[in-house]
Order: sequence, then structure tokens, then C-alpha cells
Amino acid sequence: MSVPTSKAVSPDSGEHWAEPGAWKVAEGIHRIPLPLPMDGLKAVNVYAVETPSGLTLMDGGWAVPEGREALEKGLALLGAGVGDITDFLVTHVHRDHYSLAAVLGTEVGATVRLGSGERATLELVQRGEEGAMLHNLQVSGAQALIERWGDVGRPVQDPSHWRDPDIWLEGDTTITVGERSLAAIHTPGHTQGHYVYADHDAGLLFSGDHVLPTITPSIGFEPASTATPLRDFMASLTRMRALPDLRLLPAHGPVAPSVHARVDELLEHHEHRLALSLEAIRANPSTAYQVAGELPWTRHEHRFDTLDMFNGSLAVLETLAHLDVIVARGLATRTTAAEGDLFSAA
Ligand SMILES: [Zn+2]
Repeated sequence: MSVPTSKAVSPDSGEHWAEPGAWKVAEGIHRIPLPLPMDGLKAVNVYAVETPSGLTLMDGGWAVPEGREALEKGLALLGAGVGDITDFLVTHVHRDHYSLAAVLGTEVGATVRLGSGERATLELVQRGEEGAMLHNLQVSGAQALIERWGDVGRPVQDPSHWRDPDIWLEGDTTITVGERSLAAIHTPGHTQGHYVYADHDAGLLFSGDHVLPTITPSIGFEPASTATPLRDFMASLTRMRALPDLRLLPAHGPVAPSVHARVDELLEHHEHRLALSLEAIRANPSTAYQVAGELPWTRHEHRFDTLDMFNGSLAVLETLAHLDVIVARGLATRTTAAEGDLFSAA
């Protein structure tokens, strides 16, 4: 498919990455940012990969009217429409990646692929259950946050956003996309079924939320929880370090030159947070909620008590994930307690 009308210059420097358009990132590949209304992340990048039979989309976006409209406008810049989409390779089950792929896949008959590690979360979402998230907030001692969850109420889920994919990905596998051969690599951590897709011939990594250029992905925010999400995430980062270095095509933020450079920063960030968390429990045994209250949050170093209910919950679940890694490393113990499990430095 020829793309005479698409813009060749991308705002892939810094803060303008979310500007609407279809931004060429490589021959036959365009980045289409879709807005995320009411979400701090600004936008999600969907990548349109041209093939002789149509388009393969890397991630689908969030099924909200603004998202679909931006996708249709972006595809129009490529002389295409949603009817040209033959496949969706989704990185993970979160709504801003999966739900529009689910809807459009049904509408236009495109094949939707998703990692089988997302099956348990998808089943809980289909049943309208929060699963382990409230339990994990409970054992973190975050009753104050749980009470505020009650005020918000459970959002009504549209079942068409959360249907099963057409193909569940198992293990590491290779997917043919036109003349390209993409390595689909299972990278549990941000979610248990997260995948990245590497185009080694073109030197590109569609990294989803596994490797993000300016922020760190949330850890432990999953209805179907797993024992050590941070340990899984760090192991999956180390796997990226074992691949040849690739250009980073993230789901949020601008394209960046080196996956390896960013992986090193992310591993360092988490080692720093692990050290801060261990420091916080040295004086007194503490719950994850108490430790979260002592740490700075976001790259702007906000105080915990300035976070809203949602981000406060993310912060507590992430702190719990850090404390569990400290326990797994033999540097602390975890004791069950009614008011929230207590972590003590060994
Ligand atoms: Zn995301």
C-alpha cells in the first residue's frame, strides 16, 4: 500500500509525541497516537504495519469514541480504513490496548491475538469482578483506599470490549506479518500475559508497556494476581538485554533509539526503589500502605497523600510487589496481620 499523503516528519522528540497523525517510524510502519480521555497517560500508540493484504495493527487502543475517531483519521492519512485491518497483535489485556482491537476485530473480521497469560484476568473482567486487587489492597493495610473504591462503584463493562481473542499466544513464537517475521516474546511483569514483538531484520521492538521511554509501567495492577510480579518484570527486562539492541517503539511516549539503554535505566530504578523500601522497614515493621506513604511517587516525586484513589492504589500495589521481592531475596520477612501484613527487615 502506498502512503503518499502521510507525513514523513514525526514529533518523536519529547512531549509532542501524542499529537494526532500517522507518523512514519520505518518503511511501511506508522505510529498512530490515540487519545486516552480521563487518563494521565495522554495517548496510546497503535502501530500500523503495511502488508500486501492490508494492515496489521500492533495494539488496538481503547474503545472510546475519541480513540476510534483518531484511528480512522490516522488510517485515512495512509489511504486506508478500518476495513483494511487483517490482524491485531495486542501486547496485553489492559483496556487502552485490547478493547478497540476486540471491537474492530469483530466488526471487520480481523484476527486478534493476545497472550494466554491474560486468560484469567480476562475471565474476571468478563464476569465484572475485581479479583485479587481489593484483596491485595486489604493485605497491604490500605483500608482507607478500599473504602474510597466503594464510592466510585464498579464501572459498567461492555462485553464487546472484553471478548476472547481469536488466537491465544503460548510461549515464544514467530508470527509472519506480510514479508516480515516478528518474534513474539512472552514478557510477564506489567501483566502476566504481556508480549513484545521484535522485528529483528528492521531493528525494531514493539514494546507495549513492557519498556516505556519516560515512565515506568505499573506493576501488580491485575485482577488475576501473581506472587512476584516485580520479579517477573525484572526477569523480562533482563531478557530484552539478551536480545540485540533494537529501536524502542513503545505504547506510550516517543520512539527512542535504544531498548538496552532504557532497560538499564528501568532495572536501576527498581533497584533504587527496592533499597528505599528496605530502608523504610528497617526501623519498624510496616505494611505496604505505610511504606508507600514514605516513598516519593512518579518522576515528579509527589507525596503519596497527594495521589488520587486510583493512583494511590497503583502505588500501594507496586510497593507490595517491591516488598515481596525483598522477601524473596531473603532480606525481609512477611507476617500476616489483621490490619495488613507486616514486613520486617531480616
Ligand atoms: Zn498502556
